[in-house]
Amino acid sequence: MLNRGIGSWPARRARKTPDRVAVVHEDRTLTYGELHERVLRLAHALRALGVTRGDRVAYLGPNHPAFLEGLFAAGALGAVFVPLNTRLAAPELAYNLADSGSTVLVHAPEQDGTARAAVAEAGVPHRIALAGPDEDGGLGYEELLAGAGTDPVDEAVAPEDPCMIMYTSGTTGRPKGAVLSHANITWNSVNVLVDTDLSGDEVTLVVAPLFHTGGLNMTCLPTLLKGGRVVLLGTFDAERVLGLIEDLRVTYMFGVPTMYDAIAARPRWATADLSSLRTLNCGGAPVPARTIATYLDRGLAFSQGYGMTEASPGVLFLDREKASEKAGSAGVPHFFTDTRVVGPDGREVGPGERGEVLVHGPNVMSGYWGRPQDTEAAFTDGRWLRTGDIARIDDEGFAYIVDRAKDMFVSGGENVYPAEVEDAVLDHPAVAECAVIGVPDPVWGEVGRAVVVLRPGVRADRDDILGHLTGRLAKYKIPKSLVVTEALPRTPSGKIIKPAVRDAHAPAPAEHPHP
Ligand code: ATP
Ligand code: MG
Repeated sequence: MLNRGIGSWPARRARKTPDRVAVVHEDRTLTYGELHERVLRLAHALRALGVTRGDRVAYLGPNHPAFLEGLFAAGALGAVFVPLNTRLAAPELAYNLADSGSTVLVHAPEQDGTARAAVAEAGVPHRIALAGPDEDGGLGYEELLAGAGTDPVDEAVAPEDPCMIMYTSGTTGRPKGAVLSHANITWNSVNVLVDTDLSGDEVTLVVAPLFHTGGLNMTCLPTLLKGGRVVLLGTFDAERVLGLIEDLRVTYMFGVPTMYDAIAARPRWATADLSSLRTLNCGGAPVPARTIATYLDRGLAFSQGYGMTEASPGVLFLDREKASEKAGSAGVPHFFTDTRVVGPDGREVGPGERGEVLVHGPNVMSGYWGRPQDTEAAFTDGRWLRTGDIARIDDEGFAYIVDRAKDMFVSGGENVYPAEVEDAVLDHPAVAECAVIGVPDPVWGEVGRAVVVLRPGVRADRDDILGHLTGRLAKYKIPKSLVVTEALPRTPSGKIIKPAVRDAHAPAPAEHPHP
C-alpha cells in the first residue's frame, strides 16, 4: 500500500480484522471487510466523476455510515474531505462549497432542498444523493456503488497531505476551515488511544455531529484505528443514548456538556444500567461543576477534555484515574502534544496565574483554508497555535480552563470570566441554562447580565437566583441584572453562541432589570 493516510485504514483493518464489526447504525452493521469494499467502490465512483488528488469532496447529512465512507474514499484518492454543517441555510452552504472549491457534494435526504439549492448556486458539478437519483441531476449513492468495481486504489498519499477541511463551530464568528493533514488526524487518534486506553473491544457511541471535530476525531477515528466498533446516532437524542448504552453495552463516548446534562435529566437515567461505560469524555465548552458531580456521584469516570478544531482537536485530557481527584480540571496535555500558558508578555505564568493556552504538536493544523491572514494570526513564536482560551495550571501541572479571552469583560477594573459565573448560577436548582454577558454600565464600565432558561414549571426571580451568589462569588462578578428567556442560541454541537446572546440581550433591557 502506497497510502500512508487515513484513506488506507479500512484496507489495513480489513487485512487484519475483516470480520469484526466496524460501524453500527440503526439496524445496519458493517464489518471492516464490508466497509473496505464500499470505500473502494465509492473511490472508483468518485474517480469516474473526475475526482483526483487534492480535489475537494463535500458531505452534508446527519451521522451516517456514508460520512465515514466518503472520508475514507476521498482519502484513498488523495482528495480532501469537506464535512458541512447540517444546520446551514442554502446560501451559507453555497458559500462553503464555493469557499472550499468542492466538485462533488454527497448529501442525505434530510438536506435535500438545501443541497440542491446550494449546489445550483455554487455551480458544484456533481451531487450524489443518499436517497437515490433525482430529476435535478442528482446521482444515486447506492447506484454508484453498485456500478463501481473493487480493485485496489493504489494512490500514493503522504501523511503530510491534506485530509480534511473541517470548519470550526462558528461560536465566535464565521466558521473557518481548518486544513487537517492525515498526520494531524492520525496523531490525534494516537493521543486518544494512549490516554483513554481504547481497545479493539471498544464500543464507542457517537452522539455529537460528525461534521464537528469532537464527533469524528475524538470517537470514530481512534476506535476504527484500533479495530473497535462505532455506533452512530443520527442526531443527538438523550433517551436513545441511554437505550443504546444499555442495549449495546457502550464503553466510551464523547459529548459536550449540554448533552451530558440532557442525558442525566431523563427519568430513565435513575435506573439505566450504565455498568459497561469505562470513559465518558466531555469537552468542547466549559463543563459546569454540577454536570461533573452528577456523573461522578453515579460512580462513572467522567473525564474532561479540552481541544479545538485547529488541533484535530485534542489538547488536554484528564485521565480516568484522576477524574474524581482533579474534578473540574481538563487534565494535562495529550501524550504527543505540548502546551504553554502565557501572559500578555509571552512568558509562561506560574501556578495559579491565568494566561492564554498555546499548543504545539503533530496534531496542530497547518493553517486555515484560503485565509492566509487568519493563519498568520493563529500562530506565534515558532508556530505555537494561539487558542484564545484562558487557563490556569495548578502546582501539579493540571490545567483548568477559565474561558475564552473574547468572552471576558472588565468590571470596575477586574476581569470577569463568564464561565465561572455561569457555573455558579447553574448551581441554582431553578436554572436549566445560563449565559453571562457584559453590558455597559456608567459606573463600572461593564457589569454582568445573566440570561437564563428556567427549568420547566419553575418560577424564580432575579433575587432568588442572583441572591444565592452572594458569598460564593466576589461582588464584582455577580451579575447586576437577569433576563429570563425561552432558549439560548446554540451551535449544532450545543455551544452557546455568545455574540448572538449579546445581540439579543445587551444592552436594551437596562430599563427593566427586574423581570
Ligand atoms: P469558532 O472558532 O468558529 O468561534 P469554536 O472555537 O467553538 O468556534 P471549536 O473548534 O469547535 O470551535 O471549539 C473549540 C473551543 O471550544 C475552544 O477554543 C474552547 O473555547 C472551547 N472548549 C473546548 N473544550 C473546552 C473545555 N473543556 N472547557 C472550556 N472550553 C472548551
Ligand atoms: Mg475557535
